[in-house]
Amino acid sequence: MGVSALIWLALDGLGHPLDAPQGSVWEQELPTLRPLIGAGLALDATLGVAGLPQSGTGQTCWLTGQDAVRVMGEHFGPHAGPTLQKLLNAEALPVRLQAAGARAALVNLYAPEYFAAASGRRNRMGCFPFAFRAAGLPLNPAGVPLLRASLGLHYQAPWEPFLTPDEVKACGAALAKTAADWDLLVADLWFSDVLGHLGRPDPDPAVVQAGRAYMRRLDALVLGLLDGGARVVVSSDHGNFENLQVKSHTLARVPFAGSGVALGQPTDVVQAARVLRGWFGL
Ligand SMILES: [Zn+2]
Repeated sequence: MGVSALIWLALDGLGHPLDAPQGSVWEQELPTLRPLIGAGLALDATLGVAGLPQSGTGQTCWLTGQDAVRVMGEHFGPHAGPTLQKLLNAEALPVRLQAAGARAALVNLYAPEYFAAASGRRNRMGCFPFAFRAAGLPLNPAGVPLLRASLGLHYQAPWEPFLTPDEVKACGAALAKTAADWDLLVADLWFSDVLGHLGRPDPDPAVVQAGRAYMRRLDALVLGLLDGGARVVVSSDHGNFENLQVKSHTLARVPFAGSGVALGQPTDVVQAARVLRGWFGL
């Protein structure tokens, strides 16, 4: 491959701060994350198709560099149905990297309950774990420090933290240290979409507090990664969490930012996904 390891933080449902309403989770001290995002791009996630962008099509765009919304004829999700599964099986970045002899891993920590819930006949797996499985790669891989998608908040209300930002920063540093052994490490950070769906016109203070705590941990994770010398890219599939005044996804543009990578000049998520693939010679 000729490219040193890249750590991809694939955010779910986090719109760009430029398209966030006043008082959003972006509006706080995020001394590492905010400048990184500010130096990056704000991408269109609608791809010219009416309706609200969804994770099934959005993440398939990011993983394949193909316009999955056009393939489906609509925004579709949250999971990949048969059509998107076919596209992921053929074209997903982990599949292509595996075929090229490169080393890729999904660094999410999955609890045993996840495997029970995902084992039904219908696919309930998100596009990222689906794509790694499609490549023949394991979830919870050995030899990688695994990361919880909540970044150290409990998954149930009131989402109390069990890791401090400093502890999340240490997770980032540990990942950066491991990265030398890999070509690509991906974190599927879906917790922002879960909190985003709890939005309402008069936002629940507990959701806002958890949202802000999550963003501080995301900031700390990026700090740990960058301090550890990692090359990092941050993406998102669609808006949602940047606006806690609505419970649905939004039409907000999404961030595409990084450190140690050339972002180019993409204007939408498909073009950006092609830039990302290009870093691997694909
Ligand atoms: Zn969602």
